[in-house]
Amino acid sequence: MRAHQTVLSWVRGQLASGALNVGDRLPGERLLAEQLGLSRSAVREGLRILEALGTVTSATGSGPKSGTIIVAQPQEALGLALSLQLSTRQVRFEDVVQTRLLLETWAATHARPDYDDWADAASLLERTAEPDLPVEQYLRLDAAFHAELARAAGNPLIATLMDGLRSAIADHTLERSRALPDWPTTADRLHAEHAAVLAALQEGRCDEAADLLQRHILGYWQLTERHHSGSPAVSVPMADVETEPRPPAERTVPVEERADRSDAGVSA
Ligand SMILES: [Zn+2]
Repeated sequence: MRAHQTVLSWVRGQLASGALNVGDRLPGERLLAEQLGLSRSAVREGLRILEALGTVTSATGSGPKSGTIIVAQPQEALGLALSLQLSTRQVRFEDVVQTRLLLETWAATHARPDYDDWADAASLLERTAEPDLPVEQYLRLDAAFHAELARAAGNPLIATLMDGLRSAIADHTLERSRALPDWPTTADRLHAEHAAVLAALQEGRCDEAADLLQRHILGYWQLTERHHSGSPAVSVPMADVETEPRPPAERTVPVEERADRSDAGVSA
């Protein structure tokens, strides 16, 4: 085992046994090096890796928030890993779209019948109705709205994955949305679709909500495809693909469309 891996497995073991929990502080670098029989540079390397993975955060100084603290924020690491993967073109943008469809429609059909915490989703929806909201801000609220809806399924990993997917393609999403000829009209339509999805979920019409979400996601993707010149394959806004009545029940991106854009690349 390489030296830094000793640090990783020690932390994993401490978390697994409950000796360490989110919010706890790790022993100082020197103490940890002694305890694990490693050099301080090996400990530092291990901690850097854990930080990149979103498992610890480090702050210098002497306050209560200083030191190395256990956190559970893998979204950024996931987003970064995924965006690198997209850059190598081993994963295409439409692959991200399909994954998003899978996650969101699953979450909608599995929304817990007793879930009633829709206030945040409703408030995000209201904020997107604000006139003249800049596109960038709209997309952020849109992403948060979708993540809120998915929460109803009670699986926190779904929101984490959605966040990672969204951040991996955020730049490209913005670029696509800015290329649309009439953003205000698009924003109105997105808003109406969001409202319909939320209402369906609130009223327990889960299958319908899943279907609406699918059309929302694929529709927006198709719309931006049409207006994004030179469209390299990567394109659907994680947070919001919207409308456009389309093959209503097809859950995957049509094959002939996939063929055109095998060259994606996330933020090209
Ligand atoms: Zn949306």
